[in-house]
Amino acid sequence: MKKDKKHWKLSTKLVRGGRLTSQFGETSEALFLNSAYSYESAEAAEALFAGKIEGFKYGRYSHPNLAMLEERLSLMEGAEACVVTASGMAAVFAALMCQLKSGDHVVASKVLFSSCHYIITQILPRFGISTTLVEGDDMAGWRKAITRKTRCVFIETPANPTLELVDIAFVAALCKKTGTQLIIDNVFATPLLQHPLQLGADVVIYSTTKHIDGQGRTLGGAILGKRKFINETLMPFVRHTGPHMSAFNAWLLLKSLETLELRVAKHCDNAEALAKLLENHPKVGRMLYPGLKSHPQYAIARKQMSRGGPMIAFELKGGKKAAFRFMNALTVFDISNNLGNAKSIVTHPASTTHASLGGAELKRIGIGDGLVRLSVGIEDVEDLKKDVLNALEG
Ligand SMILES: *Cc1c(COP(=O)(O)O)cnc(C)c1O
Repeated sequence: MKKDKKHWKLSTKLVRGGRLTSQFGETSEALFLNSAYSYESAEAAEALFAGKIEGFKYGRYSHPNLAMLEERLSLMEGAEACVVTASGMAAVFAALMCQLKSGDHVVASKVLFSSCHYIITQILPRFGISTTLVEGDDMAGWRKAITRKTRCVFIETPANPTLELVDIAFVAALCKKTGTQLIIDNVFATPLLQHPLQLGADVVIYSTTKHIDGQGRTLGGAILGKRKFINETLMPFVRHTGPHMSAFNAWLLLKSLETLELRVAKHCDNAEALAKLLENHPKVGRMLYPGLKSHPQYAIARKQMSRGGPMIAFELKGGKKAAFRFMNALTVFDISNNLGNAKSIVTHPASTTHASLGGAELKRIGIGDGLVRLSVGIEDVEDLKKDVLNALEG
């Protein structure tokens, strides 16, 4: 592979990074549907397993399509190394479990994707790992929660679904003092709008299911960080427990990355236009979009995100009834719990993605009955605006 690829600009990295070409010289990355490899001789196999020569060993260890995707994602993120997994949740679970042991302490932001919340609050404690949840804007809370006993801090910013933010550089500085690893779930910002490693985080996680695939076809996850952590701590866990991504999905995501920058720009253009349109609408109460001055943590958004992002949340004044009426009246948007699709999606978190948290917890973290989340797609913005305005009138 050419040595100068790290100096390529982002668009070039997303199109050409990590490319491996077979003897046929294909211009689009090939798909390798194989689980294992054969070797020229017994000696070659011995040398490979002894680490004396490089090569692919077995699908659970490494694979050309996974290797290409991991290299392309590393270049994109500016990370030393990457491991891709079968889903975003496999990435979250592996990143935590590969290093935690009984007696450890984990701190996380309070508003989390519901499965991340389940891992932190339900699964980890079963293994004797204690956890503390902190409100995103509670600076004193972060200071108090992170101690020398804290092994990892897990943060989602912007958070799902309230788009609450956490100041990454602030928490990273606390983690540096205590020798704690900072893990950022960067899904809502997409890889293009926020760069956690540059802000001091140690590990970045993606559900590639979202904007990286961007077309709603596959599940996938990625963990990016320092080579030492990835190779010595994460890889042994992944190799022996098997949450790896399929070759087909890796191939598909390689093709998705080629258009990521174009798609995210359009997602953001459309989201910004809708957020502005909705902000002062008489039927809309609280508006939560990091790209608008009205966001309670706009200063943090300005500091760590280059744009407001592709996701919008807002409260309808009429509660659940008004939210459901609005959703059912939309004709372009799909009603779905997914996000990060070319197709615009509307979600009612309190009754779907976050229903399992229960009433009291929902209230505590600000997920009201009237809260609606939009994953803004890349359709024509005029069609989206018209759809949203008509549905609000209905
Ligand atoms: C979707 C999502 C996940 C989980 O990813 P899957 O690919 O669905 O397993 C984790 N974190 C956030 C913020 C997400 O949006």
